[in-house]
Amino acid sequence: MGIEETARALEKLGFGEIYLTKSGKKGGARRKGKMEDRRKLLQEHFNSFKDCTKCDLHRNRTQVVFGDGNPYSPVVFVGEAPGEDEDRQGRPFVGRAGKYLNKKIEEVLGLKREEVYITNVCKCRPPGNRKPTPAEIGACFPYLKKELEIIKPKVICCLGATAGEGILGKKLSITKVRGQTMPYPYDPKILVLLTYHPAYILRNPRADTEFVEDLEKLRELISG
Ligand code: SF4
Repeated sequence: MGIEETARALEKLGFGEIYLTKSGKKGGARRKGKMEDRRKLLQEHFNSFKDCTKCDLHRNRTQVVFGDGNPYSPVVFVGEAPGEDEDRQGRPFVGRAGKYLNKKIEEVLGLKREEVYITNVCKCRPPGNRKPTPAEIGACFPYLKKELEIIKPKVICCLGATAGEGILGKKLSITKVRGQTMPYPYDPKILVLLTYHPAYILRNPRADTEFVEDLEKLRELISG
């Protein structure tokens, strides 16, 4: 399959327009697609709050942890907040829970981690890995909202109650609502799918079956 055909096949799968380089002229003429623009927009957005001190979480963090992955992904996974490993490395979901999530994304969705986009509702690590407070989530939410406006996914997959509450703006019991979809309040064309946080499944391995069911539902939603 040639490059152009591969790009078209990826676009059909929901990965948006692909950046192509066409050499031949002096220095190489370039056709710029949206892929490059979204990366640039995300970088500009990140730069705008990398020194944020809007809530108390800035006091103990090593760094603000922005989302990472494919800005054309049809799904954005949203977790709670960075933990110790994430705070140190500056990337979301890089600890044990992240490794479990990567494995499931590959097994159930048939995608590599770098083909999807992963982020958190709070961008700084809460001390002792406690849950972020509603005030902290409220202070940080505009950053996530803007991130989602840039990526425009088909589905936001909330990992755990805290992520779901941050995205939907209401209290949730994740054991009751997991597997359900709801419209994203700020753009009803985007679906919100609720499921467990990977760290919860590591503590409760029996929840793995339900998590896989939810990811199978996600696979249908992003391929439809
Ligand atoms: S958690 Fe969000 S709002 Fe609070 S300091 Fe970090 S970036 Fe700013």
